Amino acid sequence: MNILFASSEIFPYAKSGGLGDVAHSLPAELKKVANVYTFMPLYASVDRLKYNICSSNFSFNISLNGIAHKIDLYQKTDNDFEFFLYNPVLCDRESLYNDHYGEFGDNQLRFGLFSYAIIETMLRLKLKIDVIHINDWQTAIVALLAKTKYSLGQKIVFTIHNLAYQGIFHKSAMNELDLSWEECFKSDRFEYFDQVNFLKAGIFYSDAITTVSPTYALEIQTPSYGHTLENMLIANNHKLHGIINGISYDIFNPSNDKNIYKHFDKHNYDLKLKNKIKLSKELNLPEPHRPLFIFIGRFTPQKGVDMILQSLHLLKDFEINVAVLGNGDKYYNGVFAKLINKYPNIHIKVGYDEGFARKLYAAADFLLMPSMFEPCGLNQMIMMRYGGVPIVAKTGGLKDSVIDYTETEHYTKEVGVGITFEEYNLFWYMHAVTKAVSLYSRQKKYIKFAKHNMSVDNSWKHSAKEYMKVYR
Ligand code: ADP
Repeated sequence: MNILFASSEIFPYAKSGGLGDVAHSLPAELKKVANVYTFMPLYASVDRLKYNICSSNFSFNISLNGIAHKIDLYQKTDNDFEFFLYNPVLCDRESLYNDHYGEFGDNQLRFGLFSYAIIETMLRLKLKIDVIHINDWQTAIVALLAKTKYSLGQKIVFTIHNLAYQGIFHKSAMNELDLSWEECFKSDRFEYFDQVNFLKAGIFYSDAITTVSPTYALEIQTPSYGHTLENMLIANNHKLHGIINGISYDIFNPSNDKNIYKHFDKHNYDLKLKNKIKLSKELNLPEPHRPLFIFIGRFTPQKGVDMILQSLHLLKDFEINVAVLGNGDKYYNGVFAKLINKYPNIHIKVGYDEGFARKLYAAADFLLMPSMFEPCGLNQMIMMRYGGVPIVAKTGGLKDSVIDYTETEHYTKEVGVGITFEEYNLFWYMHAVTKAVSLYSRQKKYIKFAKHNMSVDNSWKHSAKEYMKVYR
């Protein structure tokens, strides 16, 4: 089978969150049984030299609304299956979707153009493709174009990684992207309260929709999690599938991760401690043997950062250490920055730092993940792989991948063990943290769960098979 996999970010070239991870690791697994062509924009930030990305001397123009946009194709010198598309409007920015003033004002043109360019490249190079797999709103318009303007025969699979981001723009995008008002500007398709909604178009025009966990697939059909598209999803649920994400077991591997101080695995679990001692000293945290709790993630309400902020003022008095790494909304960046060096047992870093994140996973005993909603979540899986215990809100993919340690009579080899809380408030979150401290004090039991988590299979092996079924 030949699959075209398109994403606005792919690790290691560009990554803003879980989408980048998935767009790397899912195709890598699928490549074992299929031909997979990946497509992403060649942003200015992509290190062309490091990854041997060179011009293919293949260019073409896309004319939209009377303006010609030149697209240049780039590829790696040693790989014919990875395509990078360059256009200055799309690519020459300091980051992917926004800067510190907010979202870029022309994202509808940037990603509309990217979507056109994906189809044009496939047609002009005469790639034989059976399935086009698109991801999130940034590539959702591929489905609309495939089914309307281009009348393509390929099947379209659309994955929703996070329904909160829909790509809603002024309806003038209709003209800017040369789309048919009559065909597309309808309330069950692309129109959304007299605007346009890219994600909605993806839902309508694709042949199959997947989202990143079975629980999230159910949740998004309810008003609490549907972000106003619940009825649209109910109407299209005959083609909706929930498939849990995996993580790359090559990239997230404590036995050879170059970023961490001391390699370890489940047979040498005691070596993990060396990572905590070294990091705690480096961060000037008191008593390095204390349990270390970490938070890593985007600073947005979704990730429960308000809960984290409230709890820090309580956790300062606990005999634990806490390290927070995150980056996001300008407001939250400011609030967290004010807490730097405020409490001796709490380390805060505002920014995006892949290497530091790995050091934290390798050192941590517990991961704090009080997400208000979580389509899948990768951090809890990474934490398990690095021998720690996640503390999670019981929602979305967190519910599917973490079982509370007090209910472990039900646990199987496949499910990770952690601490969960269902009612979303500070009391139950702090209750979960207190349970964690108590569990840690019974070292034998704690280590049993931590080691169990290291042997849980959260790789793509199983889920990639589920995707193959959907493609077929
Ligand atoms: P998201 O909703 O952001 O996609 P996921 O849990 O699916 O959340 O994936 C988050 C990924 O991004 C994980 O690999 C996590 O370690 C990483 N990550 C998030 N924030 C940061 C940061 N500030 N620095 C380094 N890595 C980060």
